[in-house]
Amino acid sequence: MRISLHGQVALVTGGSSGLGAAAASALAEAGAAVVINYHSHAEPAEKLAAQIVANGGRAIAVGADISQEDQVHNLFAQTLEHFGALDILLANSGLQKDAAITEMTLADWNTVLGTNLTGQFLCARSALRQFIAQGLRPDVSRAMGKIIHMSSVHQTIPWAGHANYAASKGGVDLLMRTIAQEVGELKIRVNSIAPGAIRTAINAEETEGSAEQKLLKLIPYGRVGDAEDVANAVVWLASDLSDYVHGTSLVIDGGMSLYPEFRGNG
Ligand code: NAD
Repeated sequence: MRISLHGQVALVTGGSSGLGAAAASALAEAGAAVVINYHSHAEPAEKLAAQIVANGGRAIAVGADISQEDQVHNLFAQTLEHFGALDILLANSGLQKDAAITEMTLADWNTVLGTNLTGQFLCARSALRQFIAQGLRPDVSRAMGKIIHMSSVHQTIPWAGHANYAASKGGVDLLMRTIAQEVGELKIRVNSIAPGAIRTAINAEETEGSAEQKLLKLIPYGRVGDAEDVANAVVWLASDLSDYVHGTSLVIDGGMSLYPEFRGNG
């Protein structure tokens, strides 16, 4: 079965690298027009947009720091200006600033929470306002809009040395479920994806060489994930094939959250 998102417009934050870039490509391949948001480096986002256009799709690259309210307003305004509607938000931007809790600076705490949690709130709020303003578009989807938050297995697994990151993702889980409860009656679907270890720039140190062998002990399925593992789920969650999936966190982790340390251990 081929999933079609033809006629729909998707906005992917942090879409110039890693999971966001793979998801932007997959959404475009499924027929959606794609807005690729980037933070500071325009070139990879513009290159990806050009690649999508060269393959017959529709895409633009738009810069915005999603932790800043005015820049989020501009990002959504540009989306409407170019494509006239919004149907899918993948709120994907995220970062880590790791430190032992006793060494963690307030600046690093605020940066991580500002992007990973406040940024997700700002983008979700703008998307919801747009979905409500444009109303149901039954020619393209059964839902009035779809939001997919990018969370992490660390929304539930505590992570020593990463308190800001784990707290932000725990916040994303409750933000997602609360919004879903609030807007479900409008036929707006809200879900999240909670990846485990997926090979991207954010975790290059943990997924290469001898570190990878250590990491694999935590993954019952025996491999580190690829960005496409997550991108495929994004496309499904954005499509009507998942029309009754609402307020759910889809864990994509090769079993990392199955307490693998308990294998053979009592
Ligand atoms: P990545 O570093 O390639 O992607 C993160 C993206 O977010 C980058 O494009 C970056 O420019 C963007 N970004 C950061 N701050 C921003 C800001 N203020 N405004 C706009 N964009 C900003 O890493 P990734 O692995 O692709 O991460 C994508 C998402 O997936 C993140 O939310 C991350 O927490 C989550 N995640 C990744 C993994 C993994 O194993 N790779 C696991 C769990 C969750």
